[in-house]
Amino acid sequence: MVVRALVWTAALGAAWWLLTTKPVRRLTGGRPELDELAPDLRVKVGKLLSELEGNGYTWRVLDVARTVDEQELNVRLGYSRTMNSRHVAAAGAARAVDLEPVSTPDGPATTDELRAQAYLALRDTAPRYGLETGGIWLAWSSKWAKWGLGGDPGHVQEATS
Ligand SMILES: [Zn+2]
Repeated sequence: MVVRALVWTAALGAAWWLLTTKPVRRLTGGRPELDELAPDLRVKVGKLLSELEGNGYTWRVLDVARTVDEQELNVRLGYSRTMNSRHVAAAGAARAVDLEPVSTPDGPATTDELRAQAYLALRDTAPRYGLETGGIWLAWSSKWAKWGLGGDPGHVQEATS
């Protein structure tokens, strides 16, 4: 009886593992919040975040997919400048993600100085994975200009150049 109970426990454990472990989680290093991204971008952003985390920069995902209504609100509030946003999910998946730094090698990202340091690392590492950030959009002036950053430095999308 004990053996049979052990076999059942092992079988249930294996079934639970199969049901709860999705390949996506492994590709993005366990970041289910990136599931709204198109699969190719999910892989690139996952690699980008893994490299940055290895250097002491950790991130929070603020926004991935938006509905048309949500995008209209973002434009009205000045958070976005286009209705043709890569956050608006085409074919069910978004092609942009907004990130916010949580910590840097110099401590928690609690000041603009430290957040800028993280955004600069994000901007400079992104091209290695075929990505770019709103940190290169210098025409979009904001408080980040002081650090040579464009106006939407946490926005990550496919490289356009
Ligand atoms: Zn964005």
